[in-house]
Parts: sequence; C-alpha cells; structure tokens
Amino acid sequence: MGRVKKIHVNEVNCKGCEICVAVCPRGAIEISPDLSKRGVYPPRVRDLSRCTGCKLCELHCPDFAIAIEVGSENVDSKAG
Ligand code: SF4
Ligand code: SF4
Repeated sequence: MGRVKKIHVNEVNCKGCEICVAVCPRGAIEISPDLSKRGVYPPRVRDLSRCTGCKLCELHCPDFAIAIEVGSENVDSKAG
C-alpha cells in the first residue's frame, strides 16, 4: 500500500452523521467546528500522518462523501 496523500471530503454529499470519525481506528479525522454550506458539521483531517489508508471511513460512509487518496509509490511498507 502506498502512502496516503489526501483525505477528500465532499461537503455537498456529507450529512454530518459522524460515522467516519467513529469508525476511524487511528483518530486521523475529526468533526469540524465549522458548519458546511449544507448546515452540518463535516469531518476534517486531524492528523494525516495517523491515517493508514485502511479506508474504513470511506467504506462506512453512507453518502460516499469521504475518499482516501493513496499514492502509487510503494516505498513505505510500515502502514498499518
Ligand atoms: S460518514 Fe460520510 S456523511 Fe457521515 S459525516 Fe462522514 S463523510 Fe459525512
Ligand atoms: S482511511 Fe482509515 S485511518 Fe485513514 S481516516 Fe479513514 S478510517 Fe481513519
């Protein structure tokens, strides 16, 4: 698995259910204190270096609003 490059949050799709934050085993994301345009509190990155790229957040999001972008390089195998 390559390095996690970015955690994308689609604030239009996000309904602020907080499932993603609840399922993240690493505390890599948190609920933002700022309301989105939709009027909910979306997740935001808390510490990208904690993210292992497990994609549990992405898999559990009911609205496909969070996505993990993993780099293609395979230089670091200690992820996880
Ligand atoms: S699980 Fe999806 S809809 Fe729910 S807060 Fe996270 S990104 Fe938003
Ligand atoms: S990919 Fe895994 S470690 Fe990274 S934010 Fe999502 S649930 Fe947390």
